[in-house]
Amino acid sequence: MDISVVLPVYNESGNLDPLHEELNEVLEELGRSYEIIYVDDGSTDGSKDKLRAIHDRDSHVRVLLLRRNFGQTAAVSAGLDHATGEVVVTLDSDRQNDPHDIPRLLDKLDEGFDVVTGWRKERKDDLLLRRLPSIVANYLIRRTTNVRVHDYGCMLKAYRREIAHGMRLYGEMHRFIPAIAGDLGASICEIVVNHRPRVSGTSKYGISRVARVLLDLATVKFLSSFSTRPIHVFGVLGLVLGGIGGALLAVLGFERIFLGIEIGNRPIVLLALLLVMTGVQLVTMGLLGEMLARTYHESQGKPIYLLAEDLERRAE
Ligand code: UDP
Ligand code: MG
Repeated sequence: MDISVVLPVYNESGNLDPLHEELNEVLEELGRSYEIIYVDDGSTDGSKDKLRAIHDRDSHVRVLLLRRNFGQTAAVSAGLDHATGEVVVTLDSDRQNDPHDIPRLLDKLDEGFDVVTGWRKERKDDLLLRRLPSIVANYLIRRTTNVRVHDYGCMLKAYRREIAHGMRLYGEMHRFIPAIAGDLGASICEIVVNHRPRVSGTSKYGISRVARVLLDLATVKFLSSFSTRPIHVFGVLGLVLGGIGGALLAVLGFERIFLGIEIGNRPIVLLALLLVMTGVQLVTMGLLGEMLARTYHESQGKPIYLLAEDLERRAE
């Protein structure tokens, strides 16, 4: 199989038929073998029946029906796990991404990139609730991760097979796919893609996504920089705070014992104790983190490195 196209579907019944037609038109023209994987994420609006019907009439189609609504990240993950193509393309099923951009994504992969991601330069979404938060989110993600692209949220992407299968996604991490792929050592390229207004169905997210994106960002940052050495994050902070607290206590103790100055009524004593205790706790947390990190890597058989290639010793 050359190309697998993966689409998460949650209550998109009005979009599926026109979308499928458009997709087929584009993929037929490529002249490569392909499959289209629709992952139904527990839809309740008849999308399931639409998908069954599409499956019945088109042999390119595979449909995965999830048992309930697990969220977009899980749906995309399911699709990636079941994709058999050398190249995997993902896009939304709300018709906002334009299938006609797919050939250009594939061209970039042929040039040698591992991941090609879309940049919705002219986004057709609400300014206040959608575009402004996304400008801030993109800025923050760009500053904290090692991957520099303009639009992290665009789901129209193409991956080489190894990358698509190597990514582990949790929560709502689909927004961090460029950063996660970058962590796997993938070379990433961004191209401007078309974006269209939603004509059928409604967006599944509200403004509350802002807080979740921030927390996810902290997780991604932590996992990518420190998951193999948590003691360095917690320990350093603990040593600094504990050190300040210890120094304060030493000064206070000196004053009390050698100069006879009363310290019982001075709030700084509390501060010093608090700092020492916080310091001890942070170092302990770092140690616990180290234990967890070992479980995390070893239980998944996940080495702390990634091989790009193995040029084995040739037989003489
Ligand atoms: N989606 C999904 N499960 C969910 C929410 C969304 O599979 O719980 C799908 C949805 O059908 C669409 C894509 O994810 O294909 C993006 O959703 P939406 O267009 O609502 O997000 P937005 O474009 O507003 O960020
Ligand atoms: Mg959308």
